Amino acid sequence: MHQFTHEVEVLADEVLAYSLHRLKSDPPLDGPLSESQLFDAVGNTITAKGLGGHKALEVFTRVLAKACISTDHPRNLAFIPSAPSEYANLFDLVVGASALYGGSWQEGAGAVFAENQAIRWLSDLAGLPASSGGVFVQGGTIGNLSALVVARAEARKLWPETSRWAIACSKEAHSSISSAAQVMDVDVLAIAPDADGKLRGADVAREIDIFHGSQETRVFAVVATAGTTNLGTIDDLVSIGPVTKERDIWFHVDGAYGLAAMCAPAAREKFAGIELCDSFIVDPHKWLFAPFDACALVYRNPRVAKEVHTQHASYLETLQEEDVWNPSDYAIHLTRRTRGLPFWFSLAAHGTDAYAEAIEKTMEVARAAAEKIRLHPRLQLVRDPELSVVAFTRTGWGSADYQSWSDHLLANQIGFIPPSAHHGQPILRFAIVNPWTKLSDIDLILESL
Ligand SMILES: *Cc1c(COP(=O)(O)O)cnc(C)c1O
Repeated sequence: MHQFTHEVEVLADEVLAYSLHRLKSDPPLDGPLSESQLFDAVGNTITAKGLGGHKALEVFTRVLAKACISTDHPRNLAFIPSAPSEYANLFDLVVGASALYGGSWQEGAGAVFAENQAIRWLSDLAGLPASSGGVFVQGGTIGNLSALVVARAEARKLWPETSRWAIACSKEAHSSISSAAQVMDVDVLAIAPDADGKLRGADVAREIDIFHGSQETRVFAVVATAGTTNLGTIDDLVSIGPVTKERDIWFHVDGAYGLAAMCAPAAREKFAGIELCDSFIVDPHKWLFAPFDACALVYRNPRVAKEVHTQHASYLETLQEEDVWNPSDYAIHLTRRTRGLPFWFSLAAHGTDAYAEAIEKTMEVARAAAEKIRLHPRLQLVRDPELSVVAFTRTGWGSADYQSWSDHLLANQIGFIPPSAHHGQPILRFAIVNPWTKLSDIDLILESL
């Protein structure tokens, strides 16, 4: 049935050769071009007769790929970059070649089984019970939204009279929480963290009680962040958890970036209290060495998620046998790529010790980078790094200086470090998730400051 003609055979060699070359060599940093520059270079690529595989691949490899910043470059320390292991990337080729459907057990049993073992490892690290479970979704944004929709459904059972709802979280919570609130048409109770940037149980309790005392709107979920995107700060989970239990409020932990560090024994203690959560997320595409795009969404009690997220239709009921695990039933999605498989493969092949070592290595580089910044005559550390984000400022610089330094760094293909802001002031930050980022890379960047 497959039309593997001679032309396809030749293209297969070209595609595999390019892929292997990209995987084996140091990634180029590259950078964006404007739309008109790209159009001048490739023109309109969609034509009635087609370009042919060879030419279309050439358009990609010679022009389009070079107009994309490599997120796995060791001096790409922007936002939260990525650092997929070679095994994970190679297995992504297998996933791409296999036409796997990850929505139901009936269609994807073997793949779903493997994904679930990877989810189990994460939920064991968090200390959730054996009955917990979850699913890989596209990213933390969808993971947070899916969990919060379940949380509200649970709250509606407890307070059926309530007509207006709110999510409580830190003012430093990720933008995806207010995005979820907007989609769900609920309010956000944004609570100030302490001087270290951490949300504390006592503040959460006081703010929620004042809120409930003054109006009809009820808080249905508290979102704590285990590793803020900007500074890597972990909220005080162990004091927040009991506050939610006492008030029958869902406790969700957004660990898209930071919860990866649960697998490093030296860091596990920082997440004390995670075992109290009703749901959590962590993105393997951030700091667990998997390619885009994969977020692990885990529920303490997946049954309640299934009640909320299962789609019902005459053509789907055949999939709903009792005690069958259909990944589609646990988030806002139906058709899904088996996006947890590259992560599973890398974890299965390397073993969990290698994961712990790689995470510890990145945290060590972050600590050493912080030390260099502390000793640097023109730089000030914003805060001691809690995980692997190092934030700092440069004496005498304003926003425009940071931006032009950053533009220069990318233009010269040295690194990609866009400025951020903290308390309204511009800052620079290194987000170190790549075990190939060496201290010599940090030195190279610091030299230009
Ligand atoms: C990155 C991030 C998200 C969003 O995850 P995506 O995968 O980009 O959708 C949510 N929360 C935190 C803390 C993050 O760092």
